[in-house]
Amino acid sequence: RRAAEQAMSQQPGQTSDGSRIEVVANIRNAADAREAVKAGAEGVGLLRSEFLFDNRDTAPSEAEQAAEYCAVARELGSNRPLVVRTLDVGGDKPLSYLPLPKEDNPFLGLRGIRVSLDHPDLLRTQLRAILQAAPLTRLHIMFPMVASLDELRAAKAILAEEQAASGHADVKVGIMVEVPSAAILAARFAPEVDFFSIGTNDLTQYVLAMDRGHPQLAKQADALHPGVLAMIAMTCDGARAHGKWVGVCGGLASDERAAPVLVGLGVTELSVSTPAVASVKATLARWSMDECRALAQQVLALSTVTEVRAHLAQQAR
Ligand code: PEP
Ligand code: MG
Repeated sequence: RRAAEQAMSQQPGQTSDGSRIEVVANIRNAADAREAVKAGAEGVGLLRSEFLFDNRDTAPSEAEQAAEYCAVARELGSNRPLVVRTLDVGGDKPLSYLPLPKEDNPFLGLRGIRVSLDHPDLLRTQLRAILQAAPLTRLHIMFPMVASLDELRAAKAILAEEQAASGHADVKVGIMVEVPSAAILAARFAPEVDFFSIGTNDLTQYVLAMDRGHPQLAKQADALHPGVLAMIAMTCDGARAHGKWVGVCGGLASDERAAPVLVGLGVTELSVSTPAVASVKATLARWSMDECRALAQQVLALSTVTEVRAHLAQQAR
């Protein structure tokens, strides 16, 4: 089975009846991008840009950042999509040169887009650097931890200014869906974005109020919890009403058993860890779109994560 999976890993992702599902990768840098393409990734669905900012004493300059974003873009070439997430720090990801206030609840404090809007200079520098990759690839910019339309509009206004200054107009803009309000309000976000990407790691944490790294809660903090699945369904419904696409870049996308459920809910892009590219593509090829939709409806009717896991184990192909 492994050999067969490897053989088909270079084919485009699709269901057994030919519905296209883009299988792309989560990466940190250009070296990861090269490895992902070799493994059959059709592009990058999440470049975690914070790795450029990590383990250093000062923020990376525009030139330093641009060099890395452009190197990633060159690895992908002009036909593959690249989704660059703007800096996602705070909470579990502190930076020495960006002193954030000591918080009682850092996961509920200054994180993701909130930090960027609090330090617009940092955001502008990063956006200018990202935009330099626009001529090289199918560039997408994604904002993390967005909770309200005000945040999206503020970030987009800054982006629009930097685009006007740089002349790079051809960029898609999206948000991560990892805060419950973004899922609930997906139909209202949809007219103002080009795409959504669901971060099931944080979405699970915030829907269930369970720390994503808590050892004793690891089993319960499962992205297949019916409460999380309902949020994913809501995001897909809200996006579909406005013709916008939905991806999943959290860990759930790399779960073979979850892939047909996500596709059945309306997800058309799965951004997975590089080692999961082959197995996720192989799984998709064993399900038709109608079967994915039926499976998704069955799962949405269940009440506990234990029931969901049991059903998917029984249906596994
Ligand atoms: C997520 O929250 O699911 C996600 C993809 O972002 P990160 O894991 O980097 O927080
Ligand atoms: Mg996250």
